[in-house]
Amino acid sequence: MKAMVLNGVCNLRELSEPLVMTDRPIPVPGHGQILLKVLACGVCHTELDEIEGRTPPPLFPVVPGHEVVGRIEGRGEEAKRFNLGDRVGVAWIFSACGECVYCKGGEENLCPGFKATGRDVDGGYAEYMVVDEAFAYTIPEIFSNEEAAPLLCAGAVGYRSLRLAELKDGQLLGLTGFGASGHLNLIMAKSLYPHSEVFVFARSARERAFALELGAAWAGDAGQTPPSKPNAIIDTTPVWRPVLAALKNLAPGGRLVINAIRKEESDRALLAQVDYAEHLWMEKEIKSVANVTRRDVEEFLALAAKVPIRPGYQSFPLHDANRALLELKAGGIRGAKVLSVG
Ligand SMILES: [Zn+2]
Ligand SMILES: [Zn+2]
Repeated sequence: MKAMVLNGVCNLRELSEPLVMTDRPIPVPGHGQILLKVLACGVCHTELDEIEGRTPPPLFPVVPGHEVVGRIEGRGEEAKRFNLGDRVGVAWIFSACGECVYCKGGEENLCPGFKATGRDVDGGYAEYMVVDEAFAYTIPEIFSNEEAAPLLCAGAVGYRSLRLAELKDGQLLGLTGFGASGHLNLIMAKSLYPHSEVFVFARSARERAFALELGAAWAGDAGQTPPSKPNAIIDTTPVWRPVLAALKNLAPGGRLVINAIRKEESDRALLAQVDYAEHLWMEKEIKSVANVTRRDVEEFLALAAKVPIRPGYQSFPLHDANRALLELKAGGIRGAKVLSVG
């Protein structure tokens, strides 16, 4: 099979083709596993974090990709949950131990044995992959393969970040960053909190126009002062400047939820400008979002089908994965990027 493989951490400013098209044997599903013929795989900012070493894969080579939609072409021993031919998805959570206090308490996203698809185990930038059937999800009929892929990460993690924001209907929500996660968060928030207004802070005029088109009540640059103070802000940017701006803009008692697996180092020095009175006083809170649980993915897919939430996407062939990643790094994207594989 064909796979786009990452052979080591690298600097994307120096190397424009981090992934290499490689011929590999089709993987064999083990006990309780299913073999998927990959149909589509989303391209996520986390892949940039893996490639550039902010959350490096423990072993190379590895096949990235954790927003995978596939059709079941094989089943290992004892795998009976799905039928051959079923269309299922795989998300960032590839597996968790099932035994620890976090797993038992429904917080498998915090499990010390958490394994991530496409980082700790081969993912979906390939024609085939294997996964435990317990960590696969039926994809609702109404979605095309390309629409479903970004729902599995940007959508599901976005759903978790909204849950952690603990917004009440009618309260004001802010979103900093308006890439794939941001735009899904806006659509989700409008459905879950119909009386809440959403303000969007985004660096490019194109992103701000897209936000207003999707129903944001206000859109401005990250540094701009909004007309009123949000009760919660969800940050989906890779940098620090918007974090400072968000803390300043929060209402008293407000909560900043940082939905990023790692932050880039480029503007970290700004943190020295945190002013207790301006940024933290008045019981402002900061919380990060770590990974997802199966429950997040399942609940979100059901919500997405009901609303429905159809992500805008731009499709690339598998062999163009490097171009998709570089465009993602350059920013200014409208909607999600998806590899059309099968
Ligand atoms: Zn992702
Ligand atoms: Zn565990």
